[in-house]
Amino acid sequence: MRFKILGSGGAMPTPRAFCQCKICRLARKNSKYKRNSSSAFIQEINALIDCPEDIGDSLNRENIRKVDRLFITHWHPDHTFGLRVLLEANYNFLERKPTNIIEIFISKTVYNTLKERFPAIIYLIDVIKVAKIHFVDDEDQIKFGKISVQVIGYNGKNSNYYAYLFEENNKRLLYAPCDTLHFKNYSNFKNIDVLVHECGIFSYDKVKTELSFPDMIQRFKEIIPVKTYLTHIEEVELNVWGLDYIGKMVKGYKRLSLAYDGLTIEL
Ligand SMILES: [Zn+2]
Ligand SMILES: [Zn+2]
Repeated sequence: MRFKILGSGGAMPTPRAFCQCKICRLARKNSKYKRNSSSAFIQEINALIDCPEDIGDSLNRENIRKVDRLFITHWHPDHTFGLRVLLEANYNFLERKPTNIIEIFISKTVYNTLKERFPAIIYLIDVIKVAKIHFVDDEDQIKFGKISVQVIGYNGKNSNYYAYLFEENNKRLLYAPCDTLHFKNYSNFKNIDVLVHECGIFSYDKVKTELSFPDMIQRFKEIIPVKTYLTHIEEVELNVWGLDYIGKMVKGYKRLSLAYDGLTIEL
């Protein structure tokens, strides 16, 4: 399985519009420092996980030619508000018909909130019919050829936040990119092959509503993954702490590294 990080950034991508901080200025000149909002792609099954506002840029950068399915972790804009760009890219306005229909896997609870916050989804699904909804919930297993996908609700069924576990040839990758504060059952994934997890907040003295970086490290020590990549790296944290400082914090731990846009993880 080839699991590609399309975006390793946070709710606010890097560079942030207007910002003149060191990292944003670098990112405008050198794409190595650029971080789109969090999403990932599995090549073998043309599957996307999450759909931030800048999804078009990520798909173009990697020259991805087709997306057949999309897994949603939660409704937040940095994970869903790119749905218009993604889905309308599969609509021919001259012929008035879809050129591809994307299957969206989402929990009913998350979908109900999404419909309230992003009502355009109803037009995309019911009027121009460029997507089809499949409701999934905690513990569901879906198979696509050799790859199986397990749905993980952070609070069991009817959760507001989800992770996905991808498995092929007994190798497992857990993708838990955002809002993992209430992810209670993470210890079920001991010794997993690859963990892709939100990095946690470095400014945890100021922000108490998100998982802190030290709490993420505690999880990492309990799960003992073979390899871990930290994602959802916020521009404001890079701005305040600097990439070097954050890099050093991570380098202190073996088998732990920062994800970056375009990183391909081979399982
Ligand atoms: Zn900045
Ligand atoms: Zn997020």
